Amino acid sequence: MNKLGIYIHIPFCNAKCSYCDFVSSVCGDDVKAAYFSRLRSDILEFASSGKAQDKTVDSIYFGGGTPTSVAEKYIAQIMDLLRSGFNVASDCETTIEANPESLTSIKAECYASSGINRISIGLQSATDSLLSEIGRIHTVYDFIKAADIAQSRFNNVSADLMLALPGQTVRDVEKAINLLAGRQFNHISAYSLKVEEGTPLFSTGYQPDEDYAADLYSLTRSMLEQYGYKGYEVSNFALPGYECRHNMRYWMRGEYLGFGVAAHSFYDNERYCMTSDLKAYLSGEGITEKTFIQPDGEEAAEETAMLALRTSYGLDLEKYRQTFGRDLLKDRGELIEELTESGYVEINNGKLTLTDKGLYVMNEIIVRLVL
Ligand code: SF4
Repeated sequence: MNKLGIYIHIPFCNAKCSYCDFVSSVCGDDVKAAYFSRLRSDILEFASSGKAQDKTVDSIYFGGGTPTSVAEKYIAQIMDLLRSGFNVASDCETTIEANPESLTSIKAECYASSGINRISIGLQSATDSLLSEIGRIHTVYDFIKAADIAQSRFNNVSADLMLALPGQTVRDVEKAINLLAGRQFNHISAYSLKVEEGTPLFSTGYQPDEDYAADLYSLTRSMLEQYGYKGYEVSNFALPGYECRHNMRYWMRGEYLGFGVAAHSFYDNERYCMTSDLKAYLSGEGITEKTFIQPDGEEAAEETAMLALRTSYGLDLEKYRQTFGRDLLKDRGELIEELTESGYVEINNGKLTLTDKGLYVMNEIIVRLVL
């Protein structure tokens, strides 16, 4: 049976962080109730269409927004619907994103009994003043309490860190990594801040210094490696066996269905997304863009290479040649040789991967190799 992932977008937060341009906002209970009603009917409609009858769902991901900011009954109802409407594997990796201030023991109990088995908590920084400056409404102590709750109930707990925040020091990054790795978090994501236009942070004029951001990233990588984590994707690190199945699906171009406002899907060779306007979504608007991706065409070839090169598994050159008729060793042989000699890429067992050095110039290498 083919495998399928499901993403559920929860577009609500208890406050808006100054750097955030995700589709999320602070809303009242009536909006939340209306949202979940629409979400449930979308899921039900798809499930009853029978289109996914021959698929096994082996990953579910509640992202946001802040899924822990809504009443836990909503999450349990969605889980019930998914399990009755789809073939959900018994070992389905089922993740919920959490923010420290809104994860409670009661919620965690409810998540666990509804089938959720992985929780991902946003720490972002280990310094209270920095958290407050970027509009986070939790403290490091709140995070520790949330980690206690999560780690006592779940065997698979992840945390997010941000790099290159305004005023962030090396010491802050070290503290955060020591905190997470010291508590044996199974998985850690570390994203470098991108200041998006339209956010309050953008209007301050702050832009991360690229060299400093690269230094913080390099520190993160080497500290996590020393603690036994493997960087299996450019921003993601895991203890052995704890790579995130759902995210791997995105990088390996597996199929996934997204439900909720602004949710993206890749299904039956089509990429599509729902409206990102919450009001429009609540008044019935659905898919706004749909693109067919020819399975062996140019676009699929580019996507495959770009996504695979982000991961430590790399790009299987022979499989790539067979699927897309692109022989990179022949067509880009000189370039690959040059990049190998300079230490940016390597080929092991027929798989082309970026080295640690190559990761810092990943976008440039990908453009030269693939486009
Ligand atoms: S909690 Fe996450 S989704 Fe919500 S505003 Fe902050 S960064 Fe954005």
